[in-house]
Amino acid sequence: MLAAFGMLVATSASAQLFDVSRLDGDPVPLEVLSGRHQGEFASVEGQAIHETSRRPRWWRLTAREAVQPADAPNLVLRFPYLNRVEVWRPGDAIPLRRALVGGDADLDFSTRALVVPLPQGLATGESIYLRVTALSPTPMSVAVEPLAAVHRQDLRHVALRTFVLGTLTVLALLAVGFWVGIGERTYAYLSLTLAAQAFYLACVGGEVRALPWLAELVGSDPRVGRMFGLLGVVASNSFVALYLNLPERHPRFMRVLHGCNAALLVLLLANLGTIATWLAWVANVVFLVSAATTFAVSVTAAWGRQREAYFMVLSWAPMIALVLLRVGELLGGWRNPEWMEYAFPIGLAMGGLVLTIGLTDHMHQMRRDRDHASRLATYDVLTGALTRSAINERLEALAEAAHRGRRPLSVVFFDIDFFKRINDAHGHRVGDQTLRIVALRTRNRLRTYDLFGRYGGDEILVVLPDTQLREALCVAENLRAAVNCRPLSIENRLFNTTLSLGVAELHYGETVEKLLERADAALYASKAAGRDRVTGYTASRLRTTAATPVSNTANSHGASTVV
Ligand code: GH3
Ligand code: MG
Repeated sequence: MLAAFGMLVATSASAQLFDVSRLDGDPVPLEVLSGRHQGEFASVEGQAIHETSRRPRWWRLTAREAVQPADAPNLVLRFPYLNRVEVWRPGDAIPLRRALVGGDADLDFSTRALVVPLPQGLATGESIYLRVTALSPTPMSVAVEPLAAVHRQDLRHVALRTFVLGTLTVLALLAVGFWVGIGERTYAYLSLTLAAQAFYLACVGGEVRALPWLAELVGSDPRVGRMFGLLGVVASNSFVALYLNLPERHPRFMRVLHGCNAALLVLLLANLGTIATWLAWVANVVFLVSAATTFAVSVTAAWGRQREAYFMVLSWAPMIALVLLRVGELLGGWRNPEWMEYAFPIGLAMGGLVLTIGLTDHMHQMRRDRDHASRLATYDVLTGALTRSAINERLEALAEAAHRGRRPLSVVFFDIDFFKRINDAHGHRVGDQTLRIVALRTRNRLRTYDLFGRYGGDEILVVLPDTQLREALCVAENLRAAVNCRPLSIENRLFNTTLSLGVAELHYGETVEKLLERADAALYASKAAGRDRVTGYTASRLRTTAATPVSNTANSHGASTVV
């Protein structure tokens, strides 16, 4: 659609004001102005100076109709980029020099165009001579505009360019901030891409003249702008590789981008030594391969429902269309309308915005994944209890605090009696439900700051901060009663289950391992003594309390206290 629109607008170009012709050579000005080479000027189609030679060449603009001096007319050369011109108006002996950047820059006007006043106007058939030194191979359109129109369009130009360069700069700075803040390398590449694009645009668009130190270089040397362009593509390729995780998900595309980056780095080095046109052409080809690969891998990944790729496609599709239009123009296919000059930078800025949002979304997704993984590592899915590693870690901290504050701390280990039999008799699903209900019943009997963790299959560890053994034994008894007080009812099956428990209090200076060993020994003492009971590990011996059935459980071990 863009292409069609571009062609449409291009064909409805403005009226033909000048006969444009070119002299393929660089004789001295006096000879040209005296008319000695008049017959050698070759007529050129259209209203543009499209100089492809790097050497200075002469162009002649002959007015087809008179230009009245009344409304302060100006000769306007649009899209001059790095080109420099010397202009002889009718009767001028000394030329006016114009360029966007450097000593010949006319700061009374914006970087939209090179502007030469025509205070006398032009009579029909009068000629303006231009000696053009072209460092950019793009055509400069030629027009005559009244001063008021020049200022109006300059203001619009400044507004649009400020928007584009401002957006790119802010996004680049934000990306640097995120990179430094989160330490995510993808942001560094995004930032480098955006910054290089901003500098590239400012170099070829002339805004770089606001930075005197860089303007000195850029004014006379196309290599600086080109260097930023190349750097931008290298950074963009690296960004794409990281953002879409190409090494793992699309290794073939990765190899192509690797190749492009290698070629671009060679070109970057070569660029330091030469301003030859072939380098620009090769760079353009590598850029096109990079862009096509990026777009292809984005579409492929989006097809495979890779979320990040949606953002890439959204960011790149308009750029690809614009690049194709631009390439068509450079290859001489057609002349793009003026809005294209704004569409391209605006496309870059909007693309950068979409990528920044996409990358933020990616970070958000990664954080969600990480939180999910951390939840899985911390909480047991079946019972909602802490996992073994999580409760161990917290117990270490609590034990240390207890030692430091000389405060008591106790632990209770418990294990379901004959759990295997429940699995065997009723199935694994009922076994799972049993675990869930036992966890629920027991946890409800604890304080909020007690820790409750699943240590292994049907084994649970409870940590009771600020609790002496005597109280801990009561808590354990309470837990036992919570399970054997009434039968479990699962999937229309009614059956009893009981717990064996072991309790130990932390000794001063004791390690957590030793404490758990003692609680475990107490638990096994409960098992050995007949199950459904609590055993406390006192300083030197195990004390087991009775299994007094609270409800109608099948177990009734009878004994009240076993030492
Ligand atoms: P004891 O009284 O000596 O503890 O006998 P037990 O049958 O309970 O033996 P033990 O505690 O050694 O057995 C634990 C069993 O728990 C073994 C395993 O099949 C079962 N188990 C472990 N994890 C799960 C689980 O997540 N779900 C279910 N349904 N069963 C589990
Ligand atoms: Mg068991």
